[in-house]
Amino acid sequence: MKLTPLENWIMDRTGIATKSRADLEAYQYNQLIQTLNYCKEKSLYYKKTLEHIDIDSIQSFKDFVKIPFTDSENIKKNALDFLCVSQSEVKRIITINTSGTSGDEKRIYFTEEDLNHTIDFFQYGMRCLSNESDRVLVLLPGKAYGSIGDLLRKALSLSHTQCIVHGVLTNLEEVTHLIQEYKISCIVGIPMQILYLSRLKSDVFQTYIKKVLLSTDYVPDILVKELRGRFHCDVYNHYGMSEMGYGGGVECEALHGYHLREGDLYFEIIDPQTGESVKDGEYGEVVFTTFHRQAIPLIRYRTGDIARFGADPCACGTFLKTMDKVSGRISNKVLLHNLGEVSLRDLDEAILQFEEVLDYKASIMDGDQLVIELTMSNLYEFENRKEEIIYCIYKRFYFPVHIKLKYQQDNRTPKITNSMIKRKLYDLRTN
Ligand SMILES: [Zn+2]
Repeated sequence: MKLTPLENWIMDRTGIATKSRADLEAYQYNQLIQTLNYCKEKSLYYKKTLEHIDIDSIQSFKDFVKIPFTDSENIKKNALDFLCVSQSEVKRIITINTSGTSGDEKRIYFTEEDLNHTIDFFQYGMRCLSNESDRVLVLLPGKAYGSIGDLLRKALSLSHTQCIVHGVLTNLEEVTHLIQEYKISCIVGIPMQILYLSRLKSDVFQTYIKKVLLSTDYVPDILVKELRGRFHCDVYNHYGMSEMGYGGGVECEALHGYHLREGDLYFEIIDPQTGESVKDGEYGEVVFTTFHRQAIPLIRYRTGDIARFGADPCACGTFLKTMDKVSGRISNKVLLHNLGEVSLRDLDEAILQFEEVLDYKASIMDGDQLVIELTMSNLYEFENRKEEIIYCIYKRFYFPVHIKLKYQQDNRTPKITNSMIKRKLYDLRTN
């Protein structure tokens, strides 16, 4: 099994001499202190937040947990307060709106150097799965300068790998044609879009696609199982978000969790209730701090994602940490009045096992009614499968739940303007 290419990259980037956690952690500690000093000096937000913190008293990672968390609400309130450079140095702005409500946007800024660091990560991250003989199709936005697709294109050209950046999937026939014309062997995209493509164009998928990199959102296990089992694809997961500078970590050939961008980011896993660190092997919320980020460095940023550090070393032999695949978002779990809990993760596993389902949207309405709109090719399939799907959802819960299924005709004109938007479980209850 090939050692993760991230290992040598991180050693080069950090300048550590030996493959040791102690050396890497010493580097990370120094970077944390630099980030704290930089933020306190340059960012209005951190100037205030860190006002009463004596940075000299932060002598270890243990002391570092005294520093308050940052969350997305803080950035939403005033992203410019986070900005550490003049606006003329900003080369890319990402606007994220997770709720669809205007005024609820979050802006993330990048300088040229910030973007170059991501290209660097993408170059080595993509080597985990692709090489010069691959032809890579990227189904992520790539038109704008500094967009995720643009950075991937630049990264792959540095590795002399042929790459076509198409943008998100909006036209199935067009994408199918591209796969055939360019004999695409490796595809990068949003999990639910890849599922959609593979289910409607299974022949083409089976003939051409050998490797898949899933990115930008939580990946249901059932999806990975289907791509591996049905199409014999190697399925790699990437973990990242705009706030990280798109990239955070990627799986190695062991396909057992991500190795992280440890030369650029410091990761913690915390108990979301108490804010305390949890032990390796225990689940909690992912928190990260950026190193050398110029425009918007972030300190102890709460991602809202649930994951854990693997307790055992990875089979590829690296000394880098491994983080188990993110198992969902905290906000995608809803507590019912009868104390039962509904999560998008459970629904995914119950609903997506039906190959006729192309997508779905789940909402919890008053009276704890679970309304699920299933996107399928035709009404006949829906009527045929309805009872069975309801039964499978029931089976996943250990408590009574009212389920209503609705049919949604597949008419794919996705409104995806930002590829980093995550799927949601909608809690629309008024009481
Ligand atoms: Zn590994």
